[in-house]
Amino acid sequence: MKSYDVIVVGGGPGGYTAALYTARSGLSTLVLEKLSAGGQMATTSTIDNYPGFPDGVDGFDLGQQMEQQAQKYGAETIYGEVTGMDLHTEPKIIHSSEGDFAGRTVILATGAYPRELGISGEQELRGKGVAYCATCDGMMFRGKTVVVNGGGNTAVEDALYLSRLCAKVYLVHRRDQLRASAVYRKALDEQGVEIVWNSRVTALRKENRLTGVELENVKTGEKRELASDGIFVAIGRVPDTAMAAGQLELDQAGYIVADETCRTSVPGVFAVGDVRTKAVRQVVTAAADGANAAHFAEEYLMDHV
Ligand code: NAP
Repeated sequence: MKSYDVIVVGGGPGGYTAALYTARSGLSTLVLEKLSAGGQMATTSTIDNYPGFPDGVDGFDLGQQMEQQAQKYGAETIYGEVTGMDLHTEPKIIHSSEGDFAGRTVILATGAYPRELGISGEQELRGKGVAYCATCDGMMFRGKTVVVNGGGNTAVEDALYLSRLCAKVYLVHRRDQLRASAVYRKALDEQGVEIVWNSRVTALRKENRLTGVELENVKTGEKRELASDGIFVAIGRVPDTAMAAGQLELDQAGYIVADETCRTSVPGVFAVGDVRTKAVRQVVTAAADGANAAHFAEEYLMDHV
C-alpha cells in the first residue's frame, strides 16, 4: 500500500491549498478527488470575491490552477471515489476505487452537496426540469420560464444568472426577507426577477418533464400553481461527511467539528472548507483553512515521528 505524510480527501480550494502548503514543506502529499479540481467552485462561472482577480475568475479555471500549483511542489492527485476510511488506525487508511492508501495525517476537504426539496417526483424529474446548479444546467432553459427556490446567496446568484438566459425567472423564498447579501436586492429588481415571498414548494407538476410547481403560502396556507419549465433548487448545502460518520465529532447539521486550527476530534485528522463548522463558507475561507490545516498537520507529524 502506498503511504504518504498527508492524504487530502477532496480537491476544492481548501484541499488544494492544504496540499500546496504541505507539499511545499517537503511532506509527501496525495489529493484524492472524485470529479475535477475545484469542487463546488468549479461549477461557478465567475468568482468576483476572491482577491487578486479584479475582473473575476472562472471557478473551473481557478481549480485547475490550484491543482497545478500544488503539483508544482510535488503534490500528487489521484481521481477516484473514496469508499471508506479508518481514521483511528496508525497510519490512517483511505479506501478508494483506485485502491487503499495510508496517511500519517488526513485532511478532509469533502465540501458539501445541494440539499434536496424532499418532495415526490424530485428524483424522477432530475435532468427533466429539476436542477441544482444554474451555471451547469442554465443553458437548457434558454428562453424558458424557471423557478429558483431559496433565499441565500446561491439562490440569488442563480436567479440573476438565469435572468440573463431565461424569459422569466421567479425566486420563491419561504420568508419575507432574503438571507442573501443586501447588495443583490437592487440587481434582482433591475433584472426583472419576480420574488414570491413566504412560499414553499409543495409539489411538482409533470407530464414527460416538469411543467410547473405548486406553492403554498406559509402564512395564509393559500395554494397556487406556477407554470414553469424548470426549478433550480438552491436551499442550502449538506456537508459530505458520510464517510467520516461515527469516527469523528460532527455537529447537529453534520458538519465536522473543528476550530480555526482545523483539528478534529481525532488526532492527526483535520477538516477544511465547507465541511467544517464555521461561520463563513467562501473560497477564500476554505483556502485559509487549507493553510491552517497544513501548519497543524506539520506540527502533528513533528510530534509523532
Ligand atoms: P444558505 O445561505 O444556507 O441559504 C439557504 C436558503 O435556503 C435560505 O434562504 C433558507 O431559508 C432556504 N432554505 C433552507 N432549507 C429550506 C427548505 N427546506 N425549504 C425552503 N427553503 C429552504 O445556503 P447557500 O445560499 O447555498 O449558501 C451557502 C454558503 O455559501 C453561505 O455561507 C453563502 O453566503 C455562501 N455563498 C456565498 C456566495 C458569494 O459570496 N458570492 C455565493 C454563494 C454562496 P431561510 O433564509 O429562511 O433560512
